[in-house]
Parts: sequence; structure tokens; C-alpha cells
Amino acid sequence: MTQTKQSIAVVGAGLAGVTCALQLQSAGHAVVLYEKSRGAAGRMSTRRDGDWQADHGAQYFTARGDAFKAQVDQWASAGLVSTWRARIGELTAAQPFQWVAKPGPTRYVATPGMNSLVRSMANQLNLQINTTITRIERGQEGWLLYSKEQDTALPAVQFVVFAIPAPQLVAFDSVLPSPWITQASQTRFDPCWASLVGFQQPLDLPFDALFINEGPLSWIARNHSKPGRTGPETWTLHASPEFSAQTIERDGQDLQTEILTAFAQITTVQPVWTQIHKWRYALSHPAAESGEPALWDAQMRLGVCGDWLADGRIEGAWRSGQACATLVLEG
Ligand SMILES: Cc1cc2nc3c(=O)[nH]c(=O)nc-3n(C[C@H](O)[C@H](O)[C@H](O)COP(=O)(O)OP(=O)(O)OC[C@H]3O[C@@H](n4cnc5c(N)ncnc54)[C@H](O)[C@@H]3O)c2cc1C
Repeated sequence: MTQTKQSIAVVGAGLAGVTCALQLQSAGHAVVLYEKSRGAAGRMSTRRDGDWQADHGAQYFTARGDAFKAQVDQWASAGLVSTWRARIGELTAAQPFQWVAKPGPTRYVATPGMNSLVRSMANQLNLQINTTITRIERGQEGWLLYSKEQDTALPAVQFVVFAIPAPQLVAFDSVLPSPWITQASQTRFDPCWASLVGFQQPLDLPFDALFINEGPLSWIARNHSKPGRTGPETWTLHASPEFSAQTIERDGQDLQTEILTAFAQITTVQPVWTQIHKWRYALSHPAAESGEPALWDAQMRLGVCGDWLADGRIEGAWRSGQACATLVLEG
């Protein structure tokens, strides 16, 4: 890319999109970030209602690569992330109830909610929320983007980066290179039902989170065991990929009963309130580690990033956003 200031649109304000946008903006370019929902965070989200809060997407993250470890250290110094020191285990039998501790690598969470990290990064950007990009086309002054919410084209830009899940990227097949569409179509995304449940009192249980490998559930976690969480006790229950895939078109309220029954088998408690959220595209399974975790076409001035091009996790989303920005800047 030339050293002159260019206009760039990034579509999707999850971690990959904000990471890419911030790096491009730091290099001196005019970046606008379009997000279809009411705020940035994507799948690193936290639901709040009244005085309660619960992380209903990503639960925590680990840091494997050196570059990401250095980034996590910076976020920690800035008070954006903390180590999650909790009693985390794995269920070995629901009846009779048995579990073992699962130490694992250092687990990090954003504070005071999982969405806080991306929101804080997005605060430094020109973020346009409630803007669902449906189409892009070449105009005389560059790329024209159209949204579901506006009748006219958004301001023209020289470059466009898509930072959205693979199944949503395929809607742009008329303009994106066909190998990208093939790669996106071949990437598996598992759905996930996330049930959020609340209690008047903290639960007297010997664990804060459990991996569960049988029945409808795959994971349960006490939100208040994470640093910075306030308000009444809440738990997040994730349905397994298999159960979610089989039931994804069913009514969520009907499924709550099955999810709560499985939770009660383990904990013997019933919540005082419940909510349910459907993640149609939750966990991606990249086809293979294919070198560069981002796509870039210098002639078309189009790029793509997202966790599904890396390792399907938070670290991968960050790595992909960084890689995409580097490709754009190198031209
Ligand atoms: C239930 C669940 C549990 C998870 N658990 C973990 C975990 O414990 N640890 C871990 O590391 N990872 C976990 N993950 C995965 C992790 O959340 C993701 O890897 C990461 O957040 C992906 O970031 P991203 O920026 O690539 O995509 P996203 O976060 O999906 O961001 C994409 C953004 O694009 C927006 N968008 C989509 N289409 C358009 C459009 N047309 N126009 C405008 N905006 C659009 C979306 O609204 C979204 O905000 C979990 C995910 C889920 C759902």
C-alpha cells in the first residue's frame, strides 16, 4: 500500500475486526468499522439486564504464541484482562455425581465482562453500529458498501476487509475470489445454545466451572468466579455441539427445560430466572493451518480475517486480524 492516507472499511466488530482496524488506523489510514449489532464484541459477548451480568459467548482464553502472550501482558497491564483463578473441573459421571479437577493452562478473561476488551478497543475507532453490510460493488471512487438499514450507499472506500464468520462471508460470493468462497464454504461452524441462569444466593458447590462430556451440556460456569463481575449469582450453561446441531431450529424456551434438567442433575438446584441465546455460528473448525491466517487480494483491495482462518479461538481471531492488517499495509 502507498504511504498516503487511504480509506478502509472493516466489516464486523469482533476481536479480529477491531484488531485489524486498530492496526490500520495506527498506520495512519482512515478506518470505518461497520457492525450489524448494537455494539462491538461479536462472540466475546456479555449480557447485562438490570443488576445481573453473564458471559454468554466465549468463556475464557489461553495464550500460546509469543506475540499473543505479549499482547495479553499489555492488556493485563491496562486492566483489560485478568487471570481466571477458579475451581475448574471435568465431570466424569452425572449419576452419581463425580468430577476431577482440570488444571489446564493459564486461563484469562476480559474484565469486567468478556465484551469489555473489544468494546474498549472499539472506543478508539470510528464504529458504526446497527449497520449490516449486505452488498459491495465497485464505484468510480472505490468500493461502495450497502447496508440493510440505509437506502443509499455508504461513503466510498479504497479497501474493504471482511471480519465475519465464514458462513456469513459466502453471501458476498459475487464479488470475492471464488477460492475464498470455497474455503469459507468448507469451514465447519458448530452452533451452540447458551442458557443463562440466575440465583438469589451464591450456590454452595465445590467447583466454579465444569467441562461436561455427556448429555445436552458441554460446559457450565459461575460468572462470579471471574474477576470484576458484580450483581447476583449467574451461571452460563453451554449446550454441546451435537445437542445444539440437532435442536438449532427448535424453540429455545422448549429446550431450556432439557438444559435445566441436565444442570439440576449435576447441581441439584433450580434457578430463579433463565434466558437462552442461540449462537448459530459459534465454534469454527478451520480446515487446516494454511500458513497466513488471513486472505488478501492486493489488486482487488479486498481482505478477510476471522478466527476461522486461524485456530477457531480468541487467540486465532487476534492473530488473523493482525495478519490481515499486515497484508493490507504491505500491499
Ligand atoms: C458459545 C461460545 C463459546 C466460546 N468459547 C470460547 C472459549 O472459551 N475460548 C476461546 O478462545 N474462544 C471461544 N469461542 C470462540 C471465540 O468467541 C471466537 O473465536 C472469537 O470471538 C471470534 O472473533 P471474530 O472477530 O473472528 O468473529 P466474531 O466475534 O463472530 O465477530 C464477527 C462480527 O461481525 C459481525 N457481522 C457479521 N456479519 C456482518 C455484516 N454483514 N455486516 C456487519 N457486521 C457483521 C457480527 O455481528 C460480529 O460482531 C466461543 C464462541 C462461542 C460462540
